[in-house]
Amino acid sequence: MNIQRFLPRDRLQTLIDQLMSAGYDVIGPQVRDHAIIFDHLAGVDQLPIGITDEQAPGRYRLEKSDSVRCFDWATGPQALKPMTFVSRETLWRSDRRPDGSLAFREEPMVTRPTAIIGIRACDLAALSIHDRHFMHGAHPDPQYSQRRQSLFLVAVNCMRSAATCFCTATGDGPRARSGYDLSLSELDEGFILEVHTERGRDVVVRLDVTEATSAQIERANAGIEQAAKQQQRTLPAGPLQDKLVAAVEHPHWKTLDDRCLSCGNCTAVCPTCFCQTHGDEISLDGRQTSHVRQWESCFNPDHSYIHGIVIRTERPQRYRQWLTHKFGTWEEQFGRSGCVGCGRCIAWCPVGIDVTEELAALLIEPGIEPPAEQPGGKSDGQSGGVAHHE
Ligand code: SF4
Ligand code: SF4
Repeated sequence: MNIQRFLPRDRLQTLIDQLMSAGYDVIGPQVRDHAIIFDHLAGVDQLPIGITDEQAPGRYRLEKSDSVRCFDWATGPQALKPMTFVSRETLWRSDRRPDGSLAFREEPMVTRPTAIIGIRACDLAALSIHDRHFMHGAHPDPQYSQRRQSLFLVAVNCMRSAATCFCTATGDGPRARSGYDLSLSELDEGFILEVHTERGRDVVVRLDVTEATSAQIERANAGIEQAAKQQQRTLPAGPLQDKLVAAVEHPHWKTLDDRCLSCGNCTAVCPTCFCQTHGDEISLDGRQTSHVRQWESCFNPDHSYIHGIVIRTERPQRYRQWLTHKFGTWEEQFGRSGCVGCGRCIAWCPVGIDVTEELAALLIEPGIEPPAEQPGGKSDGQSGGVAHHE
């Protein structure tokens, strides 16, 4: 289905209203604590109108512009991950019966149909990886599945890339290609509204839209093309699994000891990372337990705790685990790399470690100095420097 309509800017509110009257809670991007995050959205005036972002290794800043646009920014710290795979939740509880036996009960879950406006192509790609793992694997996850099935997704095609974006290198953006109900391409005068599903069409037929002109479609396409051309970071030619396995003893890993803090920020903001830890919390009287799952990071030493010992005691070992899994052995598990090129781990690393630079440095012969400029990309001299998040 590929129906393109034009929604004038002053009628964007009608899309939100229509989604609400169709029974959806609406969520969209908003400025909060100097970053763009997703939260409940009732009115267009809550959107980040005239806000753009500047991103670099260890740096994320919002800036005001004189643009009338609502989506003139790249990815914020949040992807869809917290909405489908929540950071902490109780999965089940147990109660001790008077006879001493245990009664288990599932934690009830209430989800409402939810429409999310403003999802980028890279985050749709990450969602599709999570769908494969959490919904279509041998052991579907009921919590993820229930939340995921409640979503109606309105994608936004990127018209500008941050300096940290490299979705063209992973093949995941900047145009949304699948996994959404509607997509918006923003022009100054309004939006090219593309219908991708039947339920998307059900919403659009109730809107006061016109045919998109070929000139408008061309301008939207040119904007997306411009976002692709803006990207300067790239990846070594793949697949990378064999190359990374061959580089497992590369001396470059040791340099991470002086740089990586093992804070796990990169895994928290990464839209594809889904490591989790489970534990039971016992009530003080010992009569009840809650089984809690929460996000885990391979940068946490306990992540590699097996049979009484921590396997990856050194920070470079943990970084190596993350990088070789994300860019290498994910291929074996999912038939693709675990990176969708969103650039979040670069911007939100407090010391500005840049995966694209690390990969470029690792996949050259030991003993040869890493290039000052990565292939097709650039080093802006901030990696390893002072971080600025506002
Ligand atoms: S590894 Fe970094 S760039 Fe790739 S998807 Fe994760 S956060 Fe985004
Ligand atoms: S690479 Fe950066 S964000 Fe990731 S654990 Fe190390 S210091 Fe933290």
